Amino acid sequence: MLQGQCLCGLVYYHYQAELEKTILCFCQHCQRAQGTMLGWNSPIDQSKFKIVRGQQYLKEYFHSPNKARVFCQECGSPIYSYRLDLLGVLRLRLGTVTEGYVPAPTEQAFAHRKPQFLQVSLLETSVRHGV
Ligand SMILES: [Zn+2]
Ligand SMILES: [Zn+2]
Repeated sequence: MLQGQCLCGLVYYHYQAELEKTILCFCQHCQRAQGTMLGWNSPIDQSKFKIVRGQQYLKEYFHSPNKARVFCQECGSPIYSYRLDLLGVLRLRLGTVTEGYVPAPTEQAFAHRKPQFLQVSLLETSVRHGV
């Protein structure tokens, strides 16, 4: 069970399952969309994910024709993305998690775009939010 929210708190979600894996993505789209050097994402089961409040503040942006990036239009926090050719799966943006267990990343995508100063130790650490 996971909970999370956007920066301003208008959008709040629950995920009724555990995260199975997390991925760091250094692609240029993630860098621009997140405004930083990487995206930290996890594939999740859409049927177990629920926007508890703030659905009306979510906006979808299609930078690629088949991939929507969904964010809070009040504060700009990226919440998740999904692909039209991969129905039932969302990719949750893990910086928004406030409660629950977030496993350490096991994969790096587009690692050749990773800044040289950044050392990532896969599988050595995990983040547990909340109490
Ligand atoms: Zn917000
Ligand atoms: Zn990416």
